[in-house]
Amino acid sequence: MPKPKNTPRRPAPVAPASPCPCGRAATYRDCCAAFHQGRATAPTAERLMRSRYSAFAVGDTGYLLRTWHPTTRPGSLDLDPAQRWTGLDILGTTGGSAFHTEGTVEFRAHYTLHGHADSQYEHSRFVREAGQWVYLDALPPA
Ligand SMILES: [Zn+2]
Repeated sequence: MPKPKNTPRRPAPVAPASPCPCGRAATYRDCCAAFHQGRATAPTAERLMRSRYSAFAVGDTGYLLRTWHPTTRPGSLDLDPAQRWTGLDILGTTGGSAFHTEGTVEFRAHYTLHGHADSQYEHSRFVREAGQWVYLDALPPA
């Protein structure tokens, strides 16, 4: 597996005891940080999706690249430090459990950019490889 290029990380704006950016009722430390720090792997496609959203929120590009399928993963990833992720709505899921090898998650991610609130909709595809869920790509809009 090619090693992703090192990209500078901005300081995480989320403290370990803060609510997790992904929106689950847990602290960041007890939720997505466990995945970001490699203490656990996401058990479902939805948890992987949520942890990737949290990685955007805390600026963890290494995690985003590690959880990207090698066939679709970019060589490097630059996040816009002006983009602040403000919330995640999971709109629907298919498959994606411990009994599946594929799954989809439909979501809307909210952010502000230069003081302007906006959101991004995506219907993402995930696959489980060697027991670990990874992001594959986005389905075309229906
Ligand atoms: Zn979380």
